[in-house]
Parts: sequence; structure tokens; C-alpha cells
Amino acid sequence: MRSHQKLLLENKAWAEEKKQREPDYFERLAGGQQPEFLWIGCADSRVPADIIVNAEPGLIFAHRNIANQVIATDFNCLSVVQYAVQVLKVKHIIVCGHYNCGGVKAALSHQRSEFTLLNKWLLHVKDVYRLHRAELDAIDSFDEKANRLVELNVIEQVNSLAYTSIVQNAWREEERPLVHGWVYALDDGLLKQLVTLEPDSEIDRIYQWDA
Ligand SMILES: [Zn+2]
Repeated sequence: MRSHQKLLLENKAWAEEKKQREPDYFERLAGGQQPEFLWIGCADSRVPADIIVNAEPGLIFAHRNIANQVIATDFNCLSVVQYAVQVLKVKHIIVCGHYNCGGVKAALSHQRSEFTLLNKWLLHVKDVYRLHRAELDAIDSFDEKANRLVELNVIEQVNSLAYTSIVQNAWREEERPLVHGWVYALDDGLLKQLVTLEPDSEIDRIYQWDA
């Protein structure tokens, strides 16, 4: 059997099991979604949002890209944020990075590779390095430096969310969402909280939008 066919078989078995446990399971989900969380994570196959927090379908609205970035010109990510905040009215946004992130490690490299698009995408992670150069330059070990950059990158993406008018309007009008920065460890499966921005958080004046 080819590997994609195994996925289709697994899907059949999964749907069957769900229906057996709860006959109206799919009917209920098909009726609509009211997720409490927006998850912005890395595309890495080892960090699947729903599985690592043991969540059922319907709880987490998700966007994933390489190195879990929130870029002001990325219509894809910002459309997800806008829909999640303004329509679904999520209570929390979680930016989740992970240690040993291939994207972040690649951003530390100087090699000109054939991945020209990826190089451009990772320029944003290099920007995070530049903002925190003094701290990062002082770390000798490559792996430790990369893992600290993973953390700083998460914190900067949390800030990027707070700089959007989408989040600022929701903070002002509805006192939500809380914006969290988490990091996941591949070697023990545990999440660590790095930062939480509350709706009354003070943000740099240059990024503040009028009501
Ligand atoms: Zn990654």
C-alpha cells in the first residue's frame, strides 16, 4: 500500500470511531465553529497544534508557516488573524515556536542556497537577530544561540500582533484577546510560556493606532 492510501484508510477508521462514540459528532461540528483559540505555529510536522495540547476539533483555529512568523505584509496570516479576531471572536492568540527549529537555524546561516523564496521569508528572522544582536552574539554555542533566537522570535511575533489595528481595536472594544508566546520542546513534548500581552498592555507609541 502506498503511504497516502494509508492516510485515507486511517481517516475512515477515525471517522467511524468518532461516530460510534458520539453518533451526532460530525453533525454537531458541521453546524459551525466557535474556537476559543487562534494558534500561529511553525509548519514543522512534529509540532501539530491540536495533538500537543490534546484538543478536539473545533477548539483551535490555526495558521502555520515556516518559523511561526507574523509579517505585516503577509495577507495570508493577517486574513486568518482578522477572521479569528473579528468574526470568530477568539479569546486567545497563541504564537508557538519550538526549539531546534530548522527555519530559525537556517536564518543563522550565510549560505546562499537554491531556496531563494525561503531565504527572503527568513530575512524576517534575521531582523529579529539584529534587534537582539548584543544578547545573541554573546552566546557561543550554535544550538543555544539558535534556541534563544527561537524564543526572541516568538516574542517579536507576539509584539507584531499587538502592532496590528485588528488586535488594538479588539483590545479597546472587547478587552480580548490575550496574546501569548509559547515555545515547545521537541525532546520532552512540553510547552513553556514566554510572554502574555493583556488587552491593557502598553505598546510602543510608534505602533499605536487611533480608535
Ligand atoms: Zn520550526
